[in-house]
Amino acid sequence: MDDCIFCQIGSGKIPAEVVYQDETVMAFKDIHPKAPVHVLVIPKKHIASAADITKADLPIAAHILEVANIVAEKEGIPGAYKLVINTGPSAGQVVMHLHMHLLGGKRITAVV
Ligand code: 5GP
Ligand code: ZN
Repeated sequence: MDDCIFCQIGSGKIPAEVVYQDETVMAFKDIHPKAPVHVLVIPKKHIASAADITKADLPIAAHILEVANIVAEKEGIPGAYKLVINTGPSAGQVVMHLHMHLLGGKRITAVV
């Protein structure tokens, strides 16, 4: 997906502050952080939204949760974070490549 910004970040074509990556998943800092720790966790494969996750994608979806734990430890907030997946424009999804917000570092009251 050449015109997808998160595909380009995932493949390294566009730079980001990467905090974790492996073969299938990348985590990088949100460009407009809404909390002291605000990291986006994405599949490197283009999946448009949570509503587009297929059965075949379930291992990647589970791995995204595992990576959230790894990132939280790395960022100094082990076991203390909020996860948000905006799904569809009406729910606030702006970038149509599945991404999970990991927020923490203070008491989070607002929803992303
Ligand atoms: P959404 O509203 O789609 O759930 O969230 C998209 C998030 O991606 C926003 O929080 C926005 O700040 C972040 N974002 C958009 N473009 C970029 C970018 O080019 N680099 C990074 N690091 N974050 C981005
Ligand atoms: Zn994409």
